[in-house]
Amino acid sequence: MATQEGMPLTDVNGSPLFTLKNGKPELIGTKCRNCDTVVFPKRPQCPKCFTETMEEILLSTRGKVFSSTVLYQAPGAPFDGEVPYSIGNVELPEQVLIQSRFSGSGDTPYPIGTEVELQAEICGKDEAGNHLLMHTFVKV
Ligand SMILES: [Zn+2]
Repeated sequence: MATQEGMPLTDVNGSPLFTLKNGKPELIGTKCRNCDTVVFPKRPQCPKCFTETMEEILLSTRGKVFSSTVLYQAPGAPFDGEVPYSIGNVELPEQVLIQSRFSGSGDTPYPIGTEVELQAEICGKDEAGNHLLMHTFVKV
């Protein structure tokens, strides 16, 4: 896996979706202190018990493909990658589904159950010309 330099994409509140440790990404989620529900992206209120007892956690970097499909049209700026590519949900050991692009899959979706690992990939540039990084999963 190549080490990528750049800025992680952010959620709707402007918080980075992942952190980089020695070039390796770790997704930032939240876990409810009341009922242990884990969510991604992070949020202040638990979607299950509605308490505001969420604490920030770093999620596992390996999981299994839960669902997968192929996109033939790019989502638009800032994404400037090639199409087609596959996307889907990855189930992590924390029982949370992560919506993600699958790297290197082309027009062949990863089969359900495929073991995948998190990586960061340049997906475009911001207005200042800095590389933007998105989280993706790739087959182990
Ligand atoms: Zn809860």
